[in-house]
Amino acid sequence: INGQHPLTWADVTTTSFFPAKPLGCYGDGGAVLTNDDKLAQLMDSIRVHGKAVGVDLEGRTFDHDPKYLNMRIGLNSRLDTIQAAVLIEKLNVFGQEIEWRNRIAKRYNDALRAHVAKVPDVPAGNISNWAQYTIEHPDRDALAAHLKEQGVPTAVYYPIPLHMQPAYEMFPRVAGGLPETERLMDVVISLPMHSDLDEATQDKIIAAVLSFKA
Ligand SMILES: *Cc1c(COP(=O)(O)O)cnc(C)c1O
Repeated sequence: INGQHPLTWADVTTTSFFPAKPLGCYGDGGAVLTNDDKLAQLMDSIRVHGKAVGVDLEGRTFDHDPKYLNMRIGLNSRLDTIQAAVLIEKLNVFGQEIEWRNRIAKRYNDALRAHVAKVPDVPAGNISNWAQYTIEHPDRDALAAHLKEQGVPTAVYYPIPLHMQPAYEMFPRVAGGLPETERLMDVVISLPMHSDLDEATQDKIIAAVLSFKA
């Protein structure tokens, strides 16, 4: 936003390296970013089963590898070396990737704006890296079926929002829940978005959306 990285206003941000992401690896991966040294150490510890890190070792002697001194309950959340190797190379072309995705999003927006309920507009001063391209359509499920027939894969992110997931049923919910979220769950649909999408393929996807008769 306005040329600033999220860490300008957040203590911690997270990012996923899931393969479909703008910076994706070839399997599962992710990162936590912070400018806070103490938090960085704590995360490093949690990442490796709660191993002892610098602050934990102050005033304590431990003659073995500090990863065998568990100071807290952590996770097994190491990034595979092979995934790191992929990400290091992809970081070099990340700027280009964002440009490509923005070009595709603009073509989609220009072609679809008049034909669907809503195209995704990015507020002035903001940059999206278009991890996904999602439109709103009142007849979402019929549109998805039509696009599938035309050979265009789509996805719904997400059919059930977090506050309505069975896993959270035991927590109280405010009456009315989250009305905007609950409206969107029935109308959002994501179109293909990746940098290998050439203009001919984009046009085919656009034509398939335009040919949908509700
Ligand atoms: C990012 C993403 C994931 C994976 O997220 P993680 O935080 O890496 O688990 C899964 N599905 C979709 C649609 C995503 O956009």
